[in-house]
Amino acid sequence: MTLTRSVDTKNVIMGRVGFGADLLRELTALCEGNNITLGWIQAIGAVQKANVGFYDQETREYSYKNLDMPMEILNLTGNVSLKDGKPFVHAHITLADEEGRSFGGHLAEGTIVFACEFILHHFSGAVYTRVFDKDTDLYLWDL
Ligand code: ZN
Repeated sequence: MTLTRSVDTKNVIMGRVGFGADLLRELTALCEGNNITLGWIQAIGAVQKANVGFYDQETREYSYKNLDMPMEILNLTGNVSLKDGKPFVHAHITLADEEGRSFGGHLAEGTIVFACEFILHHFSGAVYTRVFDKDTDLYLWDL
């Protein structure tokens, strides 16, 4: 079953995340600082190193992989919604090393920016709240 709601674009913010910042923390702080509780994020750039997660559907736990090398951000796609009453950024990232080999996963803290340009689409008109989902053991949108 697919569940949807209609949302409106309130505004679009373009910017860059500074050298040395933790990418996930910075995007979360940006949403908190601008009271953005619903949105869509895209970004490209480069990282000094990355930390990405993989959700094991059997054990229902994330495992994290530290990729301790400079890489390009080929793509970051994510969304913003509410979890525990605060803006929550859920993003996935695709990276490439100097040979063009790709790595990726669920963006986790510990991904350190070299340079990053992002576009944040700020939506309004609906509230998306993450609640525990028993089918997946994840916090998914309560639609
Ligand atoms: Zn994820």
